[in-house]
Amino acid sequence: MTPIPSDPKRITKGMWWMEAWSLIEGCTKVSPACVNCWAAAMAHIRGGQANPAMQKRYGGLTNDKGNWNGTIRCNEAELLKPMKRRKPTTYAVWTDLYHESVPNEFIMRVLNLCTDRRFEPHTICILTKRIRRASYIIHSLDRGDWWKAKSTIILGTTVEDQQRADERMPHIVELHKLGWRTMVSYEPALGPVDFKPWAEHIDWLIVGGETGRGARPMDSEWASAAVCVCLKAKVPLFYKSTGSCTKPRPLWDNLNIRQLPEVRAGTTITAQMSAENSSAAARGA
Ligand code: SF4
Repeated sequence: MTPIPSDPKRITKGMWWMEAWSLIEGCTKVSPACVNCWAAAMAHIRGGQANPAMQKRYGGLTNDKGNWNGTIRCNEAELLKPMKRRKPTTYAVWTDLYHESVPNEFIMRVLNLCTDRRFEPHTICILTKRIRRASYIIHSLDRGDWWKAKSTIILGTTVEDQQRADERMPHIVELHKLGWRTMVSYEPALGPVDFKPWAEHIDWLIVGGETGRGARPMDSEWASAAVCVCLKAKVPLFYKSTGSCTKPRPLWDNLNIRQLPEVRAGTTITAQMSAENSSAAARGA
């Protein structure tokens, strides 16, 4: 088994994804991790530029204070982007595909595209804070060819503190039991989280403190606890950064654990095909 596609230069900078797949423009803040939303700040700046292309794409998404105003646009022009690239690439889906205003139909198109053989070289990381909706939609899929998307997609959620973990992790567990690869972003870490009860259902954990303007501190004890759980349960860990105001810093600034999850495409597909074949055989097909 090999790790998912990666770019060593970006990994060194703490960036686990190689390309953004910008499917959704706009969002709504939904939990404490969203307070200093980087995407909203960028959209506000870009939407205010004189460049007409920037205005068209980002204008009207934010209010006077630079917060999202609830407007959502599905970016049809981006849909086929990964198909045009042959180099194996890890994509991060921007912003939140499962936002309540994104139509089901658009989400299904994305999932359907991920079953296309032209997506096979790629890994699509879909991180959402609306994992409940993601789980609901995935549970509603018929058998069809959806299993093919399991070898391409890693489904994930952000948990910034114990409350968010308690709310979101049960959905990650359910999805993992259905055979989906899972990732959890403990970034920005805003409070302690006990990952032990869920460790066997996490295929990849990202840990990091908040960076940028207004960054809130990550206690190094929280990071230590997450790192220990990963080491004990053999969960691949990507330690992104200490953040802008973590104390004490020296050890953590030099912590260089940047593991990637393994590609399980062959295993997943084979297992699923075996399951399909056995049920076909049981039906006498
Ligand atoms: S879910 Fe993500 S994109 Fe949306 S407001 Fe929160 S941090 Fe920003």
